[in-house]
Amino acid sequence: MDIQSAVLQSIAAHAGAYTAASDAIWDHPEINFHEDFASGTLIRLLRENSFSVETGLCGLPNAFRAQYGSGRPVIAYLGEFDALSTLSQKAGCAVREPVESGAPGHGCGHNLLGVGALAAAVAVKELIESGAVQGTVVYLGCPAEETASAKAFLARDGAFAGIDAMLTWHPWDYNGIWPGGSLANVKMLFRFHGQSAHAASSPHLGRSALDALELMNVGVQFLREHVPDDTRIHYAVTDAGGASPNVVQNRAEAVYLVRSPRLGDLADIRARVEDCARGAALMTGTSVEIEFVKGCSNLLANSALDEALLESMRSIGVPSYTQEELALAASLHAALESPETTLARLSRRCDSRTREALLAYQGEALYTFIAPYTPGDAPVIPVSTDVGDASWCAPTGQVSAAAWAADTPAHSWQAVAMGKSGVAHKAMRFAAATIALTGARMMAEPELLARVSAEFAGRIASEPYRCPIPADVVPRL
Ligand SMILES: [Zn+2]
Repeated sequence: MDIQSAVLQSIAAHAGAYTAASDAIWDHPEINFHEDFASGTLIRLLRENSFSVETGLCGLPNAFRAQYGSGRPVIAYLGEFDALSTLSQKAGCAVREPVESGAPGHGCGHNLLGVGALAAAVAVKELIESGAVQGTVVYLGCPAEETASAKAFLARDGAFAGIDAMLTWHPWDYNGIWPGGSLANVKMLFRFHGQSAHAASSPHLGRSALDALELMNVGVQFLREHVPDDTRIHYAVTDAGGASPNVVQNRAEAVYLVRSPRLGDLADIRARVEDCARGAALMTGTSVEIEFVKGCSNLLANSALDEALLESMRSIGVPSYTQEELALAASLHAALESPETTLARLSRRCDSRTREALLAYQGEALYTFIAPYTPGDAPVIPVSTDVGDASWCAPTGQVSAAAWAADTPAHSWQAVAMGKSGVAHKAMRFAAATIALTGARMMAEPELLARVSAEFAGRIASEPYRCPIPADVVPRL
């Protein structure tokens, strides 16, 4: 049997177990390193399939490494499984109706992501077992993607060392390759400490932490003029020091998120934002405490790997859908308020002929195309992902598969509502087959892996990985 048929057969044979695991994780949404149910479910499935499992990877709760086989190449699959706070939503329901008000929900489809990556790892394991390919297949269980960018901690602490290539996928509203980069970011808390005093009778004795915070923000507004155009600096005031204007505020706090498509630029911009805070403290006679919260790197594209993924995706073929599945997608599509469609976004990165072909899908409730691929200088996707850090440690490829109604944004209740649908399960199997086939091909075709490795080596030769997380920072559990 050829590799592709074996991959498809493996995924079909375990389909019931994969659907059950993904649905069970959807039913138990967990966040921020507390994903005990999800990681337990995935570890049990991996052990049942003869993987050896190491838990507590790099000291992170619910991070784990599962492995099967021996020797090179080492192909790893990255699995996420955390949910998002407050996004609880009933499955298959096209109006906003939480299962439990205020509870988390799988608004980024990570219930599907973790199991789909596992399905790929198991398919490759079976190919190794049958002797069709040789090497080691690894599954890396990656918790807390949403809240802590945990892969950045894993990257800093060496979890991706010794891996030849990594593959993953993400549920989305269309099928395709993630061809471009993403935004590196750092998140920091600035806590100002001042001196309280009566604001009318003894203001000269007060030192206002709120003044300091405002001056820091003004400093950063001026800084925006003198950083690269594609920098993003967002902030939120998380403590204004109280509600009484007649008391000099002795505390104030803001959280800042700084983003850049280039990891190298980020360190410099971050240092200058911190200088704005120190300058503001100096001006006001207050002090500032700077706490690093989290950070992640931009995604390094690998066009040799992306081209192989696209070939696999086309060879496997987009799933077909039942009337019932299309009807659910249509009802959730009708419930969207997206100002910009995915087609409009995708059309910006292709030539006029491809654009025309894409626009034929306008008005569809479910996107059944495979997006055109633009290697090389594809535009940066303006989001951040901790897969970025993995991509600096070994060549990394990522696909998306249509699990949601057309134009559904990630982190939406509409995405939660589709998370247990037939469309979502088909996306999980389609993506699993795509990344399994590509991983197995890298084991079977040394020249493919050599091209992928050479491109990666070229990329990091001039700028080696410098994790944006300082060495002494531990994740906030
Ligand atoms: Zn996600």
